[in-house]
Amino acid sequence: MTATAAPWITSQTQQLLAQRGHAWLLAGPSGLGQFELAMALASAWLCEHPSAHGACGQCGSCHAIAVHAHADLCVLMPETTLLALGWPLSEKANDEIESKKRKPSKEIRVEAMRDTVEFAQRTSARGHGKAVLVFPAERMNVYTANALLKTLEEPPGDVKFVLATDAAHQLLPTIRSRCLGHTLLWPDAPTALAWLQGQGVPAAPARVMLRAAGGRPQDALQFAPIADLWPRLPRAVQGGDVAVFKDWTPAQTLDALHKMCHDLLAVRSGASPRFFEAEDLPKAQSWRKLTDWSQALSQAMRTVEHPFNAGLMQEALVSQAQLALKP
Ligand SMILES: [Zn+2]
Repeated sequence: MTATAAPWITSQTQQLLAQRGHAWLLAGPSGLGQFELAMALASAWLCEHPSAHGACGQCGSCHAIAVHAHADLCVLMPETTLLALGWPLSEKANDEIESKKRKPSKEIRVEAMRDTVEFAQRTSARGHGKAVLVFPAERMNVYTANALLKTLEEPPGDVKFVLATDAAHQLLPTIRSRCLGHTLLWPDAPTALAWLQGQGVPAAPARVMLRAAGGRPQDALQFAPIADLWPRLPRAVQGGDVAVFKDWTPAQTLDALHKMCHDLLAVRSGASPRFFEAEDLPKAQSWRKLTDWSQALSQAMRTVEHPFNAGLMQEALVSQAQLALKP
């Protein structure tokens, strides 16, 4: 496992293992590998031959984790996340979803938490302790969080916890205080670029993608299909070209416009742009128009998950942007 992990994850794994906490809270923005770090920690805890660097990647325990079937690892995630990451649902949840009784939950369900509490009380099947991984931890509601808290306060036997979140402020303070905290480290640009190239991305688009993702390497991969387009985007929008967004969802469109607006405001106030290259941005606009635009974009954020009509919404967003970008 650790052999293929990103270098900034490997170094953080070592750093955390050296501290011997039994409950960790990994916090930081998405796209920096918090799930991978949580998994690396849990793997090392359960590994039959762990070293200071982490799990061995070879033993029966490491193999069981690799195929997502380790009796001593409880992965507590929303059903949508389990499905997206290829982890099995409970039998009951699987039946309910397959028979279309309900949709996969975006929250961590009470039933899943009950299973976790039971899991924590069982004895270890492989004899190397047990691990509970919670991700994203902010998807616990107040009931599930309280159930977890009880288990955290009186951990039964040899169970360790790792929670990962990009919204630590949404967690119960009592949960935060029960865990050792670790803030995810940002890889520097050369490290992130080298990693992207290791994923098969050529150097030039890798640079564009990393910028588009605000420096978060995992998120950068999502920008692969639009790496060509990204540098041209600000001027296309300024020209009112809605067609550039034809294959995009409203949420992606809004994200790009938000980043554009952020960068224009940054440049206007004398800072460097973050998501686009300075030369790709239109000349500085009126401060007032930009701040109005920024507010309108934040408002649009609230309805973007349920647009009445995706095409119309994109047209409206582009003409709004065009107005704000008028010299
Ligand atoms: Zn191992």
